[in-house]
Amino acid sequence: MSTEKKPLNFIEQIIEEDLKNDYKISDLKFRFPPEPNGFLHIGHASSICLNFGLGEKYKAPVNLRFDDTNPIKEETVYVDSIKKDVAWLGFKWAEECYASDYFEQLYNWSVDLIKTGDAYVDSQTSEAIAEQKGTPTKPGTASPYRSRSVEENLSLFEDMKNGDTAEKAHVLRAKIDMSSPNMIMRDPVMYRCLHKAHHRTGNDWKIYPMYDWAHGESDFIESISHSFCTLEFLPHRELYNWFVERVGKPEDLKPKQREFARRNLSHTVVSKRKLAQLVEKNIVSSWDDPRMPTISGLRRRGYTPESIRNFADSIGIGKRENMIDVAHLEFCVRDDLNKKAPRVMGVLDPLKLVITNYPEDQTEWLEAENNPEDESAGSREMPFSKELYIEKEDFREEANRKFFRLKLGKEVRLKNAYIIKAEDVVKDEDGNILEVHCTYDPESKSGSGTEASKRKVKGTLHWVSIPEAVEAEVRLYDRLFSVEDPTADKDKDFIDFINPESLEVTKAYVEPSLKSAKPEDKVQFQRIGYFCVDQDSTSDHLVFNRTVTLRDNWKK
Ligand code: ATP
Ligand code: MG
Repeated sequence: MSTEKKPLNFIEQIIEEDLKNDYKISDLKFRFPPEPNGFLHIGHASSICLNFGLGEKYKAPVNLRFDDTNPIKEETVYVDSIKKDVAWLGFKWAEECYASDYFEQLYNWSVDLIKTGDAYVDSQTSEAIAEQKGTPTKPGTASPYRSRSVEENLSLFEDMKNGDTAEKAHVLRAKIDMSSPNMIMRDPVMYRCLHKAHHRTGNDWKIYPMYDWAHGESDFIESISHSFCTLEFLPHRELYNWFVERVGKPEDLKPKQREFARRNLSHTVVSKRKLAQLVEKNIVSSWDDPRMPTISGLRRRGYTPESIRNFADSIGIGKRENMIDVAHLEFCVRDDLNKKAPRVMGVLDPLKLVITNYPEDQTEWLEAENNPEDESAGSREMPFSKELYIEKEDFREEANRKFFRLKLGKEVRLKNAYIIKAEDVVKDEDGNILEVHCTYDPESKSGSGTEASKRKVKGTLHWVSIPEAVEAEVRLYDRLFSVEDPTADKDKDFIDFINPESLEVTKAYVEPSLKSAKPEDKVQFQRIGYFCVDQDSTSDHLVFNRTVTLRDNWKK
C-alpha cells in the first residue's frame, strides 16, 4: 500500500476538525441533493464525487435526495436519468430519498412555528413584499400582516393547504428580523400556494415549501451531518441554522451547511436551465446529444466513468469559482481510453490504392495487435488485398522532405502489413486523383523477421482492404461553443456563440472486425482518434461518435 498521503482539501479539514470536537465518525452522513428538473451535467459530477468520495473515505452513508419541491419544472424522466447517471459513475447511495416525502412533516413543523409566533401568513402581493425588503444598507419594512394573531394565521394556513384560497392570495413567512443586515433573514417566504400536480404527490398538496425551508429540514430528517452546497448559498447558511434550530429536540445533532465553489467548464454551459434551452430550441438533438456536457451526453460521446471521476478528483474542491479548460476533460478521457480502447483501422476520407504486383483475388489475413498498452487485449486478423483505401491527406504527388507519408517514388509502411512504394497516379479529366498505383515488397511483411521487414521507413499509414471494408457513419464532434465562456458577455445571448461546426457527419470505411460492434463499445481509430459506437448503430448501419482526437488540435 502506498504511504503517500494526499493533502486534505478544505472540506476534509472541516470534517477532521468536527471529529476532534462534537462528532463521532459514526455520525458522519452525506447526501447528493439534485433537483429533478433536468439531466445531470459535469458540474454535478464534482458534487457527486465530493459527497460519495467522502462517503468512501469515512465509510459513511450517502443518500441520493431528490429536492423535488417545485412541481412546475420537475418530472419523473429526470429522476430516472439522475439515478442512472449516479449509478453509471460507479456510486451506490444508501437511501433514495425525496423532499416530497417530508411534505407532511414540514407542514406540521410550520404549524408549530406559527404557534410559537415564528411564522405568519402574509396576504400582500409578491411585488409589495419585494419592495419592503429594503436594501443591504436600508432595513426592510414590516408587512401590515406581520402581527396577525396565531389563530388567524392557523386558519389561513389551513385554507392555503386545502386549496381554498387563490394561488397568489397568501404566503407563509418566517418571522425573523426585517432589519437584519442579511437580507435573506428579512422574513423569508416558507410556503407558496401552487395548484399544480406534483410528479410524486399528485394533487395532494396545494402549498409547496421553498428551498430554504425544505433543505435543512430534509437534512435533519435524514440525520445528515454535513450538507455541502455551492457558494451562492453562503448567505443562506444563517437561515439554514435558524430553521434547523427550531425543529427536533435541543439535544439532537443538527446538520451543518458548508459551501464549496461551483465548477465551470470552458466552451460549454453548466446550468440545467441553459442546457434545457439548447434542447427546446433544437440546437442539440436531446439532453444526451454527444456535444452536451451532461453525464448522459458524455457517456454517449464515449467518456468512461473513470475518466469523469479522474477529472473531478484532479480539479478537486475549491473555495473560489473558476473556469476549467475543457482540454483538461479531454486529456482525462484520452488518458483512460489509451489504456482501454482496442486499436482498429478506419479511413474517413478514402483514396483508392492499387498494388500492381499483388496477386488478383488474393486475400491475406494479417495479425494485428489490439492494444500495445495492454498485452491481455490480444490480437485480431485484418484482411489485406490488391485494392486498399488510405486517407486522402496521406498522399501527395510531390512534397518536401518533412512529408513522411506517401509520395510518388517513395516508400511507406502500411501498418501491420507491407512496405509499399507509390509509382503512378490515375486522374480524371479535371485532374482529380482517382487511384494511386503502388508496388509492394513481399519480403517486408510486419513481424516476419526478414531483413526487408526490419527496414526503416519514415511513415506508417493506416488502411483498409476495399472488398472487406465496412461502410460506417462517422459523427465528428467538436466543441459546442466557439468561445471559452459563452455567458461572459451579459448583453448577448449565450446561444449566439454556438460553434457552427460542432458536428460533421461523414462516411468512413472500417475494418471488418467492427461489424459486430455494439453501442458504447470504444475504439481507437489509429492515427485519428477515439470513437464510440452510438446507440443509433445497427449491424446494417454502423455509427461511430468521435469522442476526442488523438491530440489536442483545437484552433485557438
Ligand atoms: P443548475 O443551475 O445547473 O440547475 P443547481 O445547483 O441548481 O444547478 P441542483 O440539482 O440543485 O442544480 O444541484 C445538485 C447539487 O449539485 C447541489 O449541491 C449543487 O450545489 C451541485 N452543483 C450544481 N452545479 C454544480 C457545479 N457547476 N459545480 C459544482 N457543484 C454543482
Ligand atoms: Mg437548482
